[in-house]
Amino acid sequence: MNITDLADLLCQTTEPICESNYDCIQCDISIEARNKFTYYLNLQRSDLNIFNTNSIVSILELLFHLSTSKRCASCNDILYRNSNFLSAPDLLILHIPYADAKINTSFKFLNKSYSLRGVIYYGSNHYTSCIVSENKNVWYHDRIQTGKNMIFEGALLFKKSKDWNVYNNKKVVLFKRL
Ligand SMILES: [Zn+2]
Repeated sequence: MNITDLADLLCQTTEPICESNYDCIQCDISIEARNKFTYYLNLQRSDLNIFNTNSIVSILELLFHLSTSKRCASCNDILYRNSNFLSAPDLLILHIPYADAKINTSFKFLNKSYSLRGVIYYGSNHYTSCIVSENKNVWYHDRIQTGKNMIFEGALLFKKSKDWNVYNNKKVVLFKRL
């Protein structure tokens, strides 16, 4: 089991926490869609067409207002799959693609503020992590390199967005609602 399977498993909910509809913008038609979104969102999806210039916020916006290959039965226009959390989740764990998408350190989603709490980098059977403490300091951990200890990397404020992509690995990013 890799870190994304574990995050997916831990974030399973008994009740749905998000709902989706296929909507036609022209006709005001809305059809209920199946939805399996939880606190863990896999953003590594080809239908999102993610580029390196995308940020976490723009990818989330794409995912929650996704153009589909489905067509409206009455006007033949494309249908959008619109999703909404029933209430803003306390935690968001995002699996972002191998591409160097911009990792926002804070953003607004569903009118709530979220802040970055950590990034887990994983590759071949080894993972490292950057943890953001409550007082906004960044700590780096790699068990092979640092053992039980962590290396202080400095204040979150001084870390540039490209610094989050220095490790050329796949990423899982954790955000907490403020
Ligand atoms: Zn239509």
